[in-house]
Amino acid sequence: MGERKGLKNRGYTEEDAEDRRTAVEEFTGVEFEYIKRCGMDYEGASKNIENMIGVTQIPLGYAGPVKIRGEYAVGDFLVPLATTEGALVASISRGMSVITKSGGAAVHVFGDAMTRAPVLRVRDLDHCIQVMDWIDNNEKAIQVAVSTTTSHGKLVRIEKFPDGRNLFLRFSFSTGDAMGMNMATIASEAVCRLIEKMTGAVLVSVSGNMCSDKKPAAINMIEGRGKTVVAEVRIPKDLVESSLHATSATIAETNTRKNLIGGSMSGMLGANAHAANMAAALYIATGQDPAQVVGCSTTLTTCEDIGGDLYMCVRVPTVEVGTVGGGTRLPFQKEALQMIGCLGEGKAKKLAEIVAVTILAGELSTLAAQAAGQLGSAHAKLGR
Ligand code: NAP
Repeated sequence: MGERKGLKNRGYTEEDAEDRRTAVEEFTGVEFEYIKRCGMDYEGASKNIENMIGVTQIPLGYAGPVKIRGEYAVGDFLVPLATTEGALVASISRGMSVITKSGGAAVHVFGDAMTRAPVLRVRDLDHCIQVMDWIDNNEKAIQVAVSTTTSHGKLVRIEKFPDGRNLFLRFSFSTGDAMGMNMATIASEAVCRLIEKMTGAVLVSVSGNMCSDKKPAAINMIEGRGKTVVAEVRIPKDLVESSLHATSATIAETNTRKNLIGGSMSGMLGANAHAANMAAALYIATGQDPAQVVGCSTTLTTCEDIGGDLYMCVRVPTVEVGTVGGGTRLPFQKEALQMIGCLGEGKAKKLAEIVAVTILAGELSTLAAQAAGQLGSAHAKLGR
């Protein structure tokens, strides 16, 4: 197999992919019928994947329209969702319909910074303190190091977490309209090389896990990572009862007992019904990094019965999305971003607001279904 041209060929033309596909077919004994039906330019994916042999397709649907009253997302949106989970799109759509009939969801982006947290090895505590002092006294040189790697990325904060012979530095960057993980990583490495040169500390890993990327972490819940977004809706009593077949009291009770108490008893980070579900479908559709759905899984959902009306809110601490770079370059994903007016420059916060409202809609519908005892029957009808 190692002899085959295809497996040594790192090229990105359709012919290169064909070579690799043939080699994989020979090795595995599987003849591809669907994977080879690419429908996009192979070379256009050169920054997104290696060893490309074709595409895997995921059904794409839409939910909505949903009325959003954000700072950046304003109006009625049809939201693209890619999933294989039957009933999910229908459920989100139901939530969106109720939100829209209630006058829409309010949403706000409270924080916006991508983090990278290298770990440096220092000699001892004295050295650790010296390195920290050097960082405090050399902000200008550090900013220059960042500017050699990116024009859109700006270092906005350095937090220091000393631990004997380890020094963790949590860098926060504003990253324009990019999700920013490559940008932050490259810039952090440049800063660490400067620190190494000037202080004798040694960079062990550009990611020391206090970032924290693609792992659920309390630090991200508290400080935020990417965008921290809060969305809310107040649904009139009559609408709760006619559209959701439950009462505000039973939905709020379900949220308290299931999300808050059950979540707490299970040691969950965040407290929600299935925030990751909405994030995953929207992230896959729009070319976000799907592993970063983890951040949305720590969403906090709250519900209150206010005189019979249902007040519902989601706090999504870690919306790591972009509208340039990464998977947003790909043609299918570009079209999905266009559906919500989120392609390109100046759109990342708008996308983050749409993510939070989509989570709100899914949380609303699922909690209401559970309060009304309908979750199993809806899945049995739509998902099996
Ligand atoms: P990127 O595509 O690596 O970088 C964004 C690029 O767009 C930069 O070259 C930037 O230029 C340019 N740009 C143009 N207009 C911009 C604007 N308005 N705002 C911001 N940038 C603009 O994307 P990224 O967001 O940094 O990284 C995303 C990728 O990182 C995804 O594919 C994801 O899967 C991957 N990822 C990487 C890691 C890692 O550890 N490296 C971890 C998780 C995910 P300038 O920088 O010159 O300004």
